[in-house]
Amino acid sequence: MTRTNGQWVLASRPEGMIAESNFEYKEEALREIGDGEVLIRNLYLAFEPAMRGWVDDVPSYIPPVGIGEVMRASTVGQVIESKNDAYPTGKLVSGMFGWQQYVIGDGTRGAFGGISNVPDGIPPYKMLSLLGGTGLTAYFGVHAIHPIQEGDNVLVSGAAGATGSVVAQIARLRGAGKVVGIAGGPDKCDWLRNKAKVDGAIDYKNENVGRRIREEFPKGVDLFFDNVGGDILDATLPRMADNGRITMCGGISGYNEKELPAGPRNIMQIVIHRLSVRGFILFDHIAGVGEAIRDLTAWSESGELVVEEDIQEGFENTPKTFLRLFQGKNLGKQLIRIADAE
Ligand code: NAP
Repeated sequence: MTRTNGQWVLASRPEGMIAESNFEYKEEALREIGDGEVLIRNLYLAFEPAMRGWVDDVPSYIPPVGIGEVMRASTVGQVIESKNDAYPTGKLVSGMFGWQQYVIGDGTRGAFGGISNVPDGIPPYKMLSLLGGTGLTAYFGVHAIHPIQEGDNVLVSGAAGATGSVVAQIARLRGAGKVVGIAGGPDKCDWLRNKAKVDGAIDYKNENVGRRIREEFPKGVDLFFDNVGGDILDATLPRMADNGRITMCGGISGYNEKELPAGPRNIMQIVIHRLSVRGFILFDHIAGVGEAIRDLTAWSESGELVVEEDIQEGFENTPKTFLRLFQGKNLGKQLIRIADAE
């Protein structure tokens, strides 16, 4: 039986805010699989703000997606035909299989890279949230960049998102003195206080961020985990404690800017407060994945770590769902379900 593979490919490079029109729907007839290959049907696609950077034709830590290429994305799928004993038919797997309904791979080569087996007993989408790029980024960001010190005053931006929400909770679990999250809108702030159990929340869309940071941390912020950059970083710099640490994870406020802003006005505060500022990329920490998965799973199972997924429906809604990240519509990990496991 010849199957048709629906694909969302990059049609044009965005100028400023990403749009649905930057992507185009295409179909291709799938070929038969060869020896050592498997046919995977994607079930869930994951969305990350970094994907905005992957469609710009500029050098980065990963090559840009080419015009006409399937949009790169982490996904979870099911093997539906197999000529490879490592990935039997029916097995749930994860990888960078992209915005398409099917992918053929052999686990070692080809455009879509490696295939990982989903451990038995976990909902498959957890491979994209708790145990996916954002859960792992949160884990390494807290443990490997500026580890929490007992009693730290910790501020997290993007705190109701996939990465930030896990960072804030791990900080609490690792002995921070006080954890405050910054997020957009009262609902997200309520979630932070009541579900993620942080000590405070700042609604950057309705409150004066600088004043609120000073109220929450009269002695200054010891550790700022920044997912947002821009005005929020600028407002935080003067409110850092002496010898404070800043973990730079991302800067979503600037990802859709046509012209890069001039930069933080308060950068001299790094000198004045003797700050240590470190950036990091998840890929550099892959050696520690086993330990990270053990800890994240244990915290989640005990209920100490709450991870939300925002699961949209339908492959036709893929580009629209990507935009939700930049509209602040997602709480927790943004996913889409495009098929059910057999
Ligand atoms: P996310 O936080 O789940 O979703 C993005 C959130 O960003 C939105 O829900 C929105 O929340 C906020 N946002 C969107 N536009 C904004 C703007 N202009 N100003 C302020 N906030 C804005 O996404 P994520 O996947 O967890 O990623 C969070 C950050 O971590 C991103 O900067 C990403 O690039 C970074 N990251 C880095 C690595 C690494 O290896 N360094 C790996 C993964 C992720 P509000 O409603 O609160 O505005």
